[in-house]
Amino acid sequence: MSSHAEIETFISRFEERAAPVEKAVREAWWRLAAAGTVEAKEEFVRAGMEYNRLFADRDEFEKVARWYEGREALEGPLLRRQAEVLYLSFAGRQGDEGTLERIEELEAEANAVYGNHRGVVGGREVGENEIRDLLRFSDDEDLRREAWEASKSVGGVVEETVRELSRLRNRLAREAGYPDHYHRSLDLQEMDAGSLGDLMADLESATEAPFRKLKEDIDAKQRERFGVDSVMPWHLYDPFFQEPPEDDDLDVDRYFQGKDLEGLTLETYDRLGLDVRGVMARSDLYERKGKSQHAFCLAVGREYPYDVRVLANVRSDAYWMDTMLHEFGHAVYDRYINPKLPYQLRTVAHTCTTEAIALMMGSLSEEPGWLRRVAGVPEEELEGDLEALAARRRADRLVFTRWALVVFNFERELYADPEREDLNELWWDLVERLQMVNRPPGRVAPDWAAKIHVAVAPVYYHNYVLGHLIAAQLRNYIETNVTRGPFYESEAAGRYLVEALFGAGAREDWRDTVLRATGEPLSADQFVDALS
Ligand SMILES: [Zn+2]
Repeated sequence: MSSHAEIETFISRFEERAAPVEKAVREAWWRLAAAGTVEAKEEFVRAGMEYNRLFADRDEFEKVARWYEGREALEGPLLRRQAEVLYLSFAGRQGDEGTLERIEELEAEANAVYGNHRGVVGGREVGENEIRDLLRFSDDEDLRREAWEASKSVGGVVEETVRELSRLRNRLAREAGYPDHYHRSLDLQEMDAGSLGDLMADLESATEAPFRKLKEDIDAKQRERFGVDSVMPWHLYDPFFQEPPEDDDLDVDRYFQGKDLEGLTLETYDRLGLDVRGVMARSDLYERKGKSQHAFCLAVGREYPYDVRVLANVRSDAYWMDTMLHEFGHAVYDRYINPKLPYQLRTVAHTCTTEAIALMMGSLSEEPGWLRRVAGVPEEELEGDLEALAARRRADRLVFTRWALVVFNFERELYADPEREDLNELWWDLVERLQMVNRPPGRVAPDWAAKIHVAVAPVYYHNYVLGHLIAAQLRNYIETNVTRGPFYESEAAGRYLVEALFGAGAREDWRDTVLRATGEPLSADQFVDALS
């Protein structure tokens, strides 16, 4: 058999085996997030192990690796790309079976802890929404501090689990010839560690001066509001300072009070000519005890019509408006992937391209034009807010970029040496340098472990940053070349997104998709320009 015919046969047999298992894992993940029960956790671990077994045959992997090495000789770009995608899926799951299973178990365990853990404030257990409210609205210094500390209390519970996960991930990486998990993970994400490091360093220096100025303004306001000399983390409104504190004169929540966020989400996507009704119907959108407190979008299986769902804990405020638009951005991408593509390519081009859409959509919740025309905020109400909204948009991006750089740099160091004893200090060194947030005197706690991504979505955060860069490029391209006006009011923009991005699935390397969809190679230029 020619290698062409051989690989095609292998791929179609593999699809038959993989499709039901892949679907079962996703279903189990959904049930775990929705219920957080012991049974759901066990089911997820079981499904995950079965999924890993798909890639466990050493001979098969060697065959796939050979095809990958010789892919230039394969006929047709789709077959070449399938060989690449298949190789990456296999390579990502190679390793000692015991280690792989242990990682699955520990990740499921950590997930359950993040889902079920409740911090204690004033002798009472509180959820993340409540902590966020306290940090936003309370003027009681002690209560704020308690709430901030409560938001970090999960760190101590999972610290050892996260360290153990890092060791095990590194073990797999070294077996495969990489220096550590950070390098292996980037390679398997088709990211070049060197150029990514350069890009992040460029972003750090490009944002340094504007961020310093912004942080000084933020601190001045917080000092005044709380009557303190020195601004501490609990004077900022977000537990990790991922977002800037809201301007007291700008109450963005009032735009959404009593509004139907589901309806606004539908309306937003309707205007782009993108149908999310099926997704909405399968979604789980409101708070419930035992349910994961986070939000995500999930594509269950790859058969058409696609089964795409969103899990959220919606309240009628700006945070959840942003989150709904964000998650449904992932959802439209998944939903509009060309079903005629081969199974392996019926997925997003890359995490950073789907994040780009989600970020571009989420940020509409603070955009005057969208607020006016889609959310129906009266003109006279918006008028006084325009300047503050523009400042906030800029502040959001600056603050998030600096925060993302903390996670990016921390993980690089963590995987370089998970045994180091000064991880707590390292975290705060980065927080001080990059976010310019004061370390509470004497604070010695694994605050890094309180961030769920470090435990269960490792070496992932750069995708958010790249998502922002791609979103800036994409929006600029569409509004210059496709709509000549705000993209969110145009079905032509929706069609363009389907044709140039969603429909293409994973049929090419993500850099090529970015180049084709935005007319230029990935760079920080558009994003940084918009900040100055
Ligand atoms: Zn996202």
